[in-house]
Order: sequence, then C-alpha cells, then structure tokens
Amino acid sequence: TPLSHIRNFSIVAHIDHGKSTLADRLIQQTNTVAERDMKAQLLDSMDIERERGITIKANTVRIDYLAQDGETYVLNLIDTPGHVDFAYEVSRSMRAVEGSLLVVDSTQGVEAQTLANVYHAIEADHDLIPVLNKIDLPASDCDRVAEQIEDVIGIDASGAIAVSAKTGQGITETLEAIVKHLPAPKGDRDAPLKAMLVDSWYDSYLGVVVLVRIMDGVLKKGDQIRMMQTGARYGVDRIGVFRPAMQVVDELGPGEIGFINASIKQVRDTKVGDTITHDKKPADKPLPGFKPSQPVVFCGLFPVDSAEFEDLRDAIEKLALNDASFSYEMETSAALGFGFRCGFLGLLHLEVIRDRIEREYDIELITTAPSVIYHVFMKDGTQQDLHNPADMPDLTYVDHIEEPRIKATILVPDEYLGDVLKLCQDRRGIQLDLTYAGARAMVVYDLPLNEVVFDFYDRLKSVTKGYASFDYQMEGYRQDNLVKMSILVNDEPVDALSMMVHRDRAEMRGRAMCEKLKDLIPRHMFKIPIQAAIGGKVIARETLSALRKDVTAKCYGGDATRKRKLLEKQKAGKKKMRQFGKVEIPQEAFISALKMD
Ligand code: GDP
Ligand code: MG
Repeated sequence: TPLSHIRNFSIVAHIDHGKSTLADRLIQQTNTVAERDMKAQLLDSMDIERERGITIKANTVRIDYLAQDGETYVLNLIDTPGHVDFAYEVSRSMRAVEGSLLVVDSTQGVEAQTLANVYHAIEADHDLIPVLNKIDLPASDCDRVAEQIEDVIGIDASGAIAVSAKTGQGITETLEAIVKHLPAPKGDRDAPLKAMLVDSWYDSYLGVVVLVRIMDGVLKKGDQIRMMQTGARYGVDRIGVFRPAMQVVDELGPGEIGFINASIKQVRDTKVGDTITHDKKPADKPLPGFKPSQPVVFCGLFPVDSAEFEDLRDAIEKLALNDASFSYEMETSAALGFGFRCGFLGLLHLEVIRDRIEREYDIELITTAPSVIYHVFMKDGTQQDLHNPADMPDLTYVDHIEEPRIKATILVPDEYLGDVLKLCQDRRGIQLDLTYAGARAMVVYDLPLNEVVFDFYDRLKSVTKGYASFDYQMEGYRQDNLVKMSILVNDEPVDALSMMVHRDRAEMRGRAMCEKLKDLIPRHMFKIPIQAAIGGKVIARETLSALRKDVTAKCYGGDATRKRKLLEKQKAGKKKMRQFGKVEIPQEAFISALKMD
C-alpha cells in the first residue's frame, strides 16, 4: 500500500466512555469481520479484561475502508491500554501512530484518564479528532462537552463528531474524518530497516508474537533481525497483520503495522520501545526515547497453604513469561514462610496478577502491604534501593531516605472538592494547582506514592461517591523523615507487618495497627502484648488479655457432640492460622491490619 493510502490511529478515552464499543463498530461497518464472528469488545481478548471491562494489553486491527472519494484506505487501529499503570505502553504505542480519536462520553464529559491519555497523544504530535459518544442517551449534552474539551484540553472541538457507538450513528463520519483529517505516515522504503517494537505477548500456538510499526525499510520473512537495545538477533519465521485475526503477509513496508514471529523464547527478551533493524544492514541509530518500564509497587505474595509454594512458583514463572513488566524474587518471611517479592507497574497491575494466580492457578494467597522503592543513603556514602521494609538497614548507619513522589490529577464535582482536598492533605500532599471547568474542579497534587498505594483509590471513591477520576505520573524522589515501623506480637517482630512510614504519622499508624491486631488475634491462655516500635523504641501498645476458661468449659461436659463439633471447628480454623512464636495469628489479620481507615 502506498503511504498516501495508510492511516494509523489510536483511540484515547477515559474508562467506560466507549472505546472498545467504537472499535467494534469501526470493524463491523467496514466488514472486517464476518457478521457471524462479531462479538462485543472484539479487541479485549483476555478474560479478565472482558470481565472487568478494561483493556490491558495494546491490541491492533487493520481495516480496509472504501472511502467516499472512491479510494480504498488501510486503517490501522492500535487500541491502547486505558489504565494509568500502563502509561509507558500507552506513550510508546502512541508513537507508532500519527493520530487519535479522542472519545468523550457526551453524558459525562472530560475525566482524568481522558486528560492523561490526551497528553500522551499531544506529546506524540498527534492530530486529534474529537468524538462525542453515547448521543443516543437522553443525558447526552454535546455542546457542553465540546466546550469542556476546548476549555480543559485546549483543542478545537467545533468539528467534533457526534456518535453512538451503540447504534452506529456517526460511524461513517468518523471513518471519513480519519481519512481526511489524519496525516498519512512518512517513511523511506529504501532506507535501512527501522521498526518500533510496540508490544509483545505469548501465544499458545505461535510462541512470542511481536507487534511492530515499520518506520523505514521493508521487513520480509526469513530476514535476520537485531533488537538494537538488547542486541539480540533472530530469524523472522512469519510476518502478518491483524484483521483482527492473524493473517500472514509477504512483507511489511513503511507506515505499516503488523506482527512478527521469530525464534524468541520468552516475552522478557523483547522490550517495548526497542528498535528492530536488519542484522546485516543495520540502521545507524535507534528510535529515540527508549526506556524499559520499571516496577514501582512491590509486595510479597505467599501461599496460604505452604504446601502450594511450588505451584505458586510455577504460576509466577508462567505469568512472567508473558509480562515483562512484572518482576519477582523468592522471599522468606518468618511469619508467612516461603513466597515471592513481586514488583508491579502499579496497583491495578498488582491486582490483575494476584487475581490471575488465584483464579487461573487456584492458589489462595496472602498479600503483604504494597510498598514502594525507597532510596536509602548510608553514612558511608553508599546508596541502596529498598524494595522491602523488612530489609531496612539499622538506622545508626543510615544518613537519609528518599521516597518516590507522584503528580496526581483529580477531577471532581464541586460539592466533593472539600473532601478530596482533605484526603490529599491527610496523605501528605502538596497542592500544585486548582482550576474549574464548569461544575467540576481539577486539582493537581504532589503526593508521596507510598500514601497512594495503600487505599487511596478506595478512599477517593468513597468520599466522592464514585464521581472523582484520578490519574498520576511519577515525579522523582524527595527526601523526607521516613522510618521503619515494626510490629511486635508477644515481643517477637512480625516481619510481614513492618512498614515504612513518615515519622509524624508513625504514632497514629502504630496505634491503629495495634488496635486492629488486638481485635484480629484470638485470645490465648496467656497475656499478649502487641506493640509498634521504631528502632528499639515502642511507640504504641495494646494488650490482649488472657483467655480465662477452656473453650469447651461452657459446654458443661454434658453434650459430647457439641464439644466435639467445637473442637473440630477449632481445628479447621487452625489451618488458616500462622504460628508465631507461641502465638497463632489468623492469616486474615495480615490483610486486615494493613488496610487504613
Ligand atoms: P471502554 O472502557 O472505553 O472500552 O468502554 P466500553 O466500550 O467498554 O463501553 C462502556 C459501556 O458503555 C458499555 O456498557 C457499552 O455498552 C456502553 N456504551 C458504549 N458506547 C455507547 C453508546 O454510544 N451508547 C450507549 N447507550 N452506551 C454505550
Ligand atoms: Mg475497553
């Protein structure tokens, strides 16, 4: 296909504004898929995506469109992940296309992820086509939302297309706008090969599949390729395009988007954003701006039943093959036994992986408190990255500690603004900006990531009755007065409960934790002190009083069946307990104690 007849685009939208449904209609209207194969949200392939209605991996489809000018155009749609955790993947896939449809739900308006994604698109120099979706609904207000797009995003929305992805209204106009208003890609067929590695995943039939955008040159079956960042070399076994099912083609030229299959063993060997070139006649330099995505949130995953450790290892290794952004290493905890310390791109990513282990591999898990990476500067001038509070060096050797900060953008209806400001303030936030767009406020806060990883989303949702939207980006590290707080049960430290906290908030957190544990740990035959401590200093304490009578005593020794039943119940309960010194702690305590209210 000549460059002039190719259009590459993505769709940016806040979650639920109709991105997947619109993609379905574009595919359907162009007869890309036979009617009988059409099912809702065709591009959301993973079960978990379908169930939760979120798009996790970028997906792509090539559409042939016979335009009103009588010419047939090739339209390549790359569907980007909608969630903040995958911001790096979003920004890379944006660089693989020239324009975006900016989809905004006309009954709702601009939301935090609309903004976050549109900034990625603007950074990638995209031409934007505003699309106002859900006009079939009575609450649709296109004028108001178009005005809001102009106010908040600052782009011209006078040519916005009114669409119902549900009924199909406005779909032809959308296809025409793509052809007329988005630029054709540029590229040189005769130059050395330069292809961007946009995404990669594991397919059970084909092995590793790599999604590429050709910038310059031509890629053919049998070519010897080289990944410019990692240096790895492979022979290309197969190349093709997505319609959206895979279809083998002979070659991919400049401006085209497709997949390659090579003898790549695992997804970890491919890095999103890397440049693929020919091994024999390489490009002189790679595409700019490559940075491998880094895990930012860490937590321990332990099997509830320690006999399932090997199964857990197996599950984690399999998942990691298909997800290069997920890291893991073995961890042992005195409280929880053998498990893994895992790193994730964010909380959603954590939740998705944890869910898949529990559901697809049927392993019940204990998850420790999510933690961020602290930079610990030692008095001897060395520096360490702390992934696990349990590994915190002795304070006497520590000079200072830095923590990661984020820049958070929150959009919220006026009436909840006060609660949002209070929440951010309580989480050590620094207000950077506050503006209004209609009846909504947009606040920007500098917040410590560690205050967000606990339960910030949940709190934000509850104080705003679900009306706030939230997005963030990493903003680097800053020094603060941070300490490790340990929890001692019956004078023994429980490693899985130790956490990094700000010194000023340590007493409060310590007290809350001790009170909670007091309720969560069953009484024993002896008194149990529960303490929070920093270094050797106790900052909070509760005492769980001793159980006075035998549990079966109240059965008066008479009713033998009742007595036996009670003992059986106790035995069953024990399986879910962790023996800790002389004390048994129910596994539920580890989860509940770490939630803040
Ligand atoms: P995404 O999260 O942006 O991919 O959004 P989806 O495409 O999954 O759509 C979210 C919800 O909105 C689904 O329940 C869709 O059926 C619904 N939806 C999408 N477009 C329209 C529309 O034009 N009209 C109506 N009434 N509902 C829509
Ligand atoms: Mg979707």
